[in-house]
Amino acid sequence: MLEVKHITKYYGKNKAVDDLSFTVKNGEIFGLLGENGAGKTTTFRIIMGLIDASLGEVLLDGKKIDYNLTDKIGFVTEERSLLTKLTVFEQLKFYGVLKGLDERKVEKDIDKWLEKFEITDYKNRKIKELSKGNQQKVQFISAIMNNPKLLILDEPFTGLDPINVKMMKEAIYELQKKGASIIFSSHQMEYIEDFCEKLVILVKGHSIVRGSLKEIKESFGIKNIMLRGKDLPIEKIKKIKGVIDVTKVKGELEIKIEDKLVASKVFDIVKDYDITKYDVVEPTLNEIFIKKVGEYNE
Ligand code: ATP
Repeated sequence: MLEVKHITKYYGKNKAVDDLSFTVKNGEIFGLLGENGAGKTTTFRIIMGLIDASLGEVLLDGKKIDYNLTDKIGFVTEERSLLTKLTVFEQLKFYGVLKGLDERKVEKDIDKWLEKFEITDYKNRKIKELSKGNQQKVQFISAIMNNPKLLILDEPFTGLDPINVKMMKEAIYELQKKGASIIFSSHQMEYIEDFCEKLVILVKGHSIVRGSLKEIKESFGIKNIMLRGKDLPIEKIKKIKGVIDVTKVKGELEIKIEDKLVASKVFDIVKDYDITKYDVVEPTLNEIFIKKVGEYNE
């Protein structure tokens, strides 16, 4: 289990992280969200022991993360940290041995990993000759080949096509099943919705929303009604107390309402029309992010 306890980081007078706390249990995938410059990378660097926090501490399975424990952490970032003059095999062997794995075992394992990620043909090719997506796969293998207890994924899917995203997701789920704690950061909210049960939204290093995705959505209050039908009374709907906004989305009306109680008032107005769809749905994480971050910045 990863425990981040009240970490604060100053760069000079700039507070990049402000009293941030969260835990990621074994087998949990946790989302760290925030605008550009919100403090995500700084938080990751503190967790990995690359920089010190000004205040607070980070524990992995109850222990401070030191040189021995960093071997148990895997890290995938958007900026590829590969040694591009090496071949795929040399690169993976280098990382495996660096992380304390047995040399002979690493050599055998590399073949399995390359097969799994369908890049066996590139084994003896230089990293710099590989496409971006294949370089990302090599980086991903480097991060997970020692079966990390903590996996940090900072925009891991950038530049990958949907088939490769699926392949990588499956490998992440496998690690989750083995009990790894996984932290995931992305500006693409669909990935966070898809992956993370719990999350934190950071603004200027400060956590403004935190908890389970389900609770966050429920407590947000605002819901959307998706309505499809003929000659719907848009102006009448707009006048209902509690209706925030009505927009047309792909041939349907999206009606934003203050809370779920307003849904029955909308239904009363439209029930005698020729409607083929009436769904009350939770807001997307994207909507929540934009509203909450916007409110905080006001
Ligand atoms: P992005 O989504 O753009 O990657 P981020 O959430 O990862 O952003 P950080 O890189 O952690 O944000 O930056 C947080 C704050 O700390 C910013 O104000 C940034 O300018 C500042 N900062 C980051 N690294 C340093 C550094 N080495 N020296 C001084 N200030 C820094």
